[in-house]
Amino acid sequence: MSGKDKELKMSRRSFVKNAAAMAAGAAGAAVVGFSSPEAEASEKFTSPRDVQDIAETLKDKNVKVVHSVCLGCNARCGTRVLTKDGRLIGNYGNPYHPYNTRFAPIAYDMPVKESLLHSGSVCGKSKESRNYAYNPYRLIKPLKRSGPRGSGKFEPIEWEQMIKEIAEGGALFEHIGEKRMIEGVKALNSDKLIDAGAPELGTVRNGFIFIGGRDQNARKEFSDRFVKGALGSCNRIGHTDICGIGFRMGNWIMSNKKEVEFKADPVNSEFIAVFGANIYEALQPGINTYGATVANRNSKGEVRFIIVDPRATNASVHSEDWIAVQPTRDGALAMGMLRWIIDNNRYNGAFLAAPNTEAASKAGFACFTNASYLVITDPAHKNYRKFLRVADINANADEKESKDPVVADSAGMFASALKTEKANLLFSGTVKDSSGKSVSVKSAFVLMREGVFKFTVDEYAEKAGVKTADIVKLADRFTSNGTKSAVTQYHGAGNYIGGTYAAYAVAVLNALVGSVDRKGGYMKAGGGAGKWNTGIYDLALFEGARKPSGPVISREKFAYEKTTEFKKNGYPAKRPWFPMSVGGLCVEAMSGIDQKYPYPCKILMTYFFNPVYSIPGGYRYKETLSDTEKVPLHVSIDITVNESNIFADYIVPDVVYSEGHYGFLTPHAPASRFTGIRTPAVEPVTGKTKDGRHFSEETFLIDLAIASGLPGFGENAIKDKNGNMFPLKKAEDFYLRAISNLADSAKVPEASDEETAFVEKNYPVAGFKNMLSASEWKKVCYALARGGVFNTSYNDVFTGENHKFGIKEILLYSEELALTKNSITGENFSGTLKYVQPVTPKGRNIDEIDKEYPFSVITYKMNVHAQSRTHFHKWSMELFPENYIEMNDKDAATLGIRDMDSVRLISASNKDGITGKVKVTKLVRKGCLGISNHYGHTQMGASDLPISKAREVFYGGKAVAEKDRLIGNKKLGSGLQFNNVARLDEDFGNTPMVDVVGGTPDFSSTRVKVIRL
Ligand code: SF4
Repeated sequence: MSGKDKELKMSRRSFVKNAAAMAAGAAGAAVVGFSSPEAEASEKFTSPRDVQDIAETLKDKNVKVVHSVCLGCNARCGTRVLTKDGRLIGNYGNPYHPYNTRFAPIAYDMPVKESLLHSGSVCGKSKESRNYAYNPYRLIKPLKRSGPRGSGKFEPIEWEQMIKEIAEGGALFEHIGEKRMIEGVKALNSDKLIDAGAPELGTVRNGFIFIGGRDQNARKEFSDRFVKGALGSCNRIGHTDICGIGFRMGNWIMSNKKEVEFKADPVNSEFIAVFGANIYEALQPGINTYGATVANRNSKGEVRFIIVDPRATNASVHSEDWIAVQPTRDGALAMGMLRWIIDNNRYNGAFLAAPNTEAASKAGFACFTNASYLVITDPAHKNYRKFLRVADINANADEKESKDPVVADSAGMFASALKTEKANLLFSGTVKDSSGKSVSVKSAFVLMREGVFKFTVDEYAEKAGVKTADIVKLADRFTSNGTKSAVTQYHGAGNYIGGTYAAYAVAVLNALVGSVDRKGGYMKAGGGAGKWNTGIYDLALFEGARKPSGPVISREKFAYEKTTEFKKNGYPAKRPWFPMSVGGLCVEAMSGIDQKYPYPCKILMTYFFNPVYSIPGGYRYKETLSDTEKVPLHVSIDITVNESNIFADYIVPDVVYSEGHYGFLTPHAPASRFTGIRTPAVEPVTGKTKDGRHFSEETFLIDLAIASGLPGFGENAIKDKNGNMFPLKKAEDFYLRAISNLADSAKVPEASDEETAFVEKNYPVAGFKNMLSASEWKKVCYALARGGVFNTSYNDVFTGENHKFGIKEILLYSEELALTKNSITGENFSGTLKYVQPVTPKGRNIDEIDKEYPFSVITYKMNVHAQSRTHFHKWSMELFPENYIEMNDKDAATLGIRDMDSVRLISASNKDGITGKVKVTKLVRKGCLGISNHYGHTQMGASDLPISKAREVFYGGKAVAEKDRLIGNKKLGSGLQFNNVARLDEDFGNTPMVDVVGGTPDFSSTRVKVIRL
């Protein structure tokens, strides 16, 4: 066994030990209950201080330590990264970081030397960071396609040549028989309109489309700088939709488009209704944060919860109940709860009736609702669906007051909502307008109640596929803890067609008990510790920066009614538009590219983005990406060849998170206020440019911008507050100044000489310290040495019981949504809650049209995996070499299927289907199949590829390559990927199904047949 292997074996034991410790602790607490000696023992056993080793740096003086932030998933935990001889050797938790310490970190001013005696927890995914970084299928040189798209034929290309070709375009593939002329970046740097007949579509700049996978704060802004600021394209699109936009849309509507992230307070809540959230295995904050905190408090009897999920997650072992809701019916269940709560007068009337901030504050709350605002319900009125405003009833109102919404007050008078202390929640009647005419109005609460009262609790139970008693018990439990009850909803609760209204109903449950932004309630995050992109250095703006215009190709945040197409053709639009969406619609971006709608793509640049693998129905995009008419030039930035960039023209090698991915990571909901700083722990393994910069996204965008003559990069690109100019020629020119901005803004002190020396010895970024003044560098060292700025505690975000940084207004009726039209039907959306049967934008009910496919399918994340890349985690793959099709034991008995039988799943859209092994279980709802993500790769090391000089191109060299061939490892392709059988929407060019309000991709409506093999 080599030294390296020995090192990995030892770490694997540590990985298993830690995983076992967490599991055993959780199981012990489950069996014993709370406040017993065993529970106390399990408390110690599961303490983050005890389950992971103290940093090895104390044992070996040659080991270096860097406090940074993990990116094993998007949960943003801190890390203590250990390196030796320039290589990663271990990953631990950062004890300064609240997420590694169950919200109880060591004091921020504790000297770093002392901090090394403390530890913190990280999950198994983070432990594998070195397996991820040193996986042999990593690209270290850029590739250019040398065969037809999708053939996998590539050859290495010199960096400078690649930059020149992408900037200038031309007959780039003439040598392999493709005569077409390709437009490079320079050609798109023009103010020529895409279509002079439809000027609202913007200029040809919008033909440049950048879709980003996992890019967090800072890297996101870096690519924004190139795409939006320098080139002027509006098309820099994230991936919020596949990450989980469903529940976010519910929060977005409820918070009047102010916030998307809310969760039940894990530290102070007494009861949590968990909707479609895998709290012990896959939530943000991570499993060692949120899950561990809830599990620990549950073991002591401090918090109870009920799981609503078609599949029993690991947390179900601690749950009072597991309600196995039918997939896509979380909304029905929430509406049933709302019905029961209203029927039984169990809502918080004092909270709901306070119509403005001052009134809410007097009643003891941080925010108010618009429940009492009157809405004009007369269809003949010019302001139908809008709020009644003071100007409607008083022509002489002063200008300021005239726009105020109107409420009926407790004395039966109509008045400005902003000047009333206690309003009538239940008003429904008429009001005389300023001309003396009667106008029918209803309060937002009454309208919401009408929406909820469309069905009885029994009927909602039937729709949700649960017992009435389940809904009643959950509603009763939820309303029995004052404002210390809240929901934690996540991807399962709304990631499907119809998901916006489902997630909105789930979110409004919190408003009904008055727990929004209350201690123990439904809370947003507390924000960051300071600003990083402005301050000493202006990293947000630069001379020559453009202001993009026009609709994004995914049609998010843009109304169809503003287009020339609408003026000519009216409804329906060719594809849906999503003016109310929170955005980040990579699925509709890909479908827009496929359909050249609303305009064609010229250059597609993808960053860590694998749509073919990661999108339900993404297999459809193989056709899109193969077509040089639809995608004339495709450049992918990635660490490997994946299922999507195998169709690309160029692949640019990137760094992994331990090598780069500088970032400023603020908390997820709930509460807390901090900024973690991600900084490299080791030098990248990627190749270098002639001037010594490692190949990475930043190096590529800088060089491409300079070669294309774009502003914002190169000499004199960054201005400081005194007007001095600095270059942007390498990643650190941007990021090190950003860290300096943050340290200054957050008012961190200067580091001592000892701590400055610690950073200079351990942190690779110290090699660039001369770009800062001595004082700036010392402040940067203080923050870097601790992995960020963590100078507040969890409860510092509260004043009394209220969240200081919470939202101000909760909507029970969204006027904006009520005035927005469905771009397919031309009908207005409902402005308040409504039960929506999951249907496609053209109204197809999948349950009916696919009824001969008897099983619905849901997917989920395992605790040792994140999304598509963790099959490179070798220890996880040893523990769980493949995934399974989880089937209820009664269904298995009916079909005569036994454990580990092989079956084929086919859907209406994919009759070839996918194959896998069945795991028979009681832990998934009857009629539903559960399949974990992460498996079933065909690329990313799983297949041989005809790549020239493969030994020079891949990090593993000879171990994975012959002369002109990459040799795949079949184990990396084990298991199955559900997305390959997901249903498509035949009304829109057979592209993946999406929700018509939010653009949410559908993860749960596909129905399949199970064929035994
Ligand atoms: S949950 Fe695990 S993988 Fe995700 S950020 Fe935290 S430690 Fe890293």
